[in-house]
Amino acid sequence: MDFSTNTNTSQHQHRSAKPSTRNTVKNKKRAAPEAQRQACITSLRFTRTHSKPKCSEIADVLDGCTTRDPCHSAACSVCSKATQKRGLVQLTTAFSPDEDLVMITIIDARLQCDPGELPSIKLKSVRRHFQRLFTQALCSDIPLWGYIGVSYNEHIANEWKPRWAVELHGVVRANHAERLKAQLRPLLERTESVKRPLRCDPIRNWKRQTSYVSKPYVGRRVSYRSECGDKRTWKTALKATHLVEFLLWASDYQPDDRHFMMAIRRYGNRLNVLVPARLSSSQLAKRPQEAAWKPEEAHKTRR
Ligand SMILES: [Zn+2]
Repeated sequence: MDFSTNTNTSQHQHRSAKPSTRNTVKNKKRAAPEAQRQACITSLRFTRTHSKPKCSEIADVLDGCTTRDPCHSAACSVCSKATQKRGLVQLTTAFSPDEDLVMITIIDARLQCDPGELPSIKLKSVRRHFQRLFTQALCSDIPLWGYIGVSYNEHIANEWKPRWAVELHGVVRANHAERLKAQLRPLLERTESVKRPLRCDPIRNWKRQTSYVSKPYVGRRVSYRSECGDKRTWKTALKATHLVEFLLWASDYQPDDRHFMMAIRRYGNRLNVLVPARLSSSQLAKRPQEAAWKPEEAHKTRR
């Protein structure tokens, strides 16, 4: 989690100017998990929101987390980092770093919510939403190892309202990526705040990209227009109020709850990849229709 609070927003108020790289550089030097946890505790102790009692409870839990007696909370950066490390070791039992793999990111506009509403989005419902999406896209047989991520998105000139996005990052074999892309694309809507709902990138740097897929920290993406008018985005630190909101959401879960696997079974510390269905050419030619996806189903995921 990127837990450092941002106090340098005033320098980014120009509508079309390129933002300073100072924050980006600072962001790259991400604090160690222990320092991140301390920053979280400070933000939770000093919050002035109506959820102050719960914030104090979470701060106590994080404060009491030790190597001998870990808290196992998804709000704890140390426990989340340890789970991420274990998960990445397990991943090598499913996919080999020598294989041709692709990293996918799915941002579904229906899983966005306004600031203040993040704790109402339940992880179980998010998981069901993605499972239904893959079933609807006729590709639920494709082995995918993933992690449910959260990001805070805003526009520097307020061209659209700031929103939380709950997204899925995953790893699939390269020979399945084309089918996945073709089947999912018609079901994912582009909006002003979600310009690229589906992104696929070949994995060239195993360590860096798989760590990104299972990143426990929450990012803040700020969109802006460059001097030549191009739409761009830069990543920076979360403000203290949004960090507290994220911690209130994450404290309901364990870090492992954010894992998402499809057509992969876990046996102890090993993962077993299931063989995808052999589809006939007529089945492969079938494309899901946008109309087939019922909007009320997405609404149900909030509960
Ligand atoms: Zn902990």
